[in-house]
Amino acid sequence: MAECGICHRAKPSRYYHCRHCNHCIYRLDHHCNFVGNCLGQHNSKVYVHLLLNALFHAIAETAVIAYHYASLLQFNNAHALFTLTLLPTLFALYESTRLLRAFHTTLKRNQTLVESYKRVRGPKTSLLSAMESYFGKKSLWWLVPTFESH
Ligand SMILES: [Zn+2]
Ligand SMILES: [Zn+2]
Repeated sequence: MAECGICHRAKPSRYYHCRHCNHCIYRLDHHCNFVGNCLGQHNSKVYVHLLLNALFHAIAETAVIAYHYASLLQFNNAHALFTLTLLPTLFALYESTRLLRAFHTTLKRNQTLVESYKRVRGPKTSLLSAMESYFGKKSLWWLVPTFESH
């Protein structure tokens, strides 16, 4: 079995080294500075739930701000207040959508972000198989972020 050139531990196929954590991670996608951890095989399900939660909250907050738009305009500094409230929700909408699309690409290609840089990928597989490999075989449990059914 190959050995990691940096941490010198055994490095099976599809393990990649994270310089921030100084560990080799199975199916490492990237080191996420928002959560302060690597994103790999074993925490992708929690990560996707985090993104979906962020997306739904951003949609709800944007709707609330839009609903109260008229009352916000009654303040003296309405433009600043509106920008302060709307910009974070628009950023959350954009980032959660962008990262969910990126994860969808990972599933479709069976290729993590690190693997796309290295120009390698896992074997061709269906979208359902790729989802099962990350979230487990029992699709009902996909809704529970902390349950692993591998
Ligand atoms: Zn390593
Ligand atoms: Zn890391």
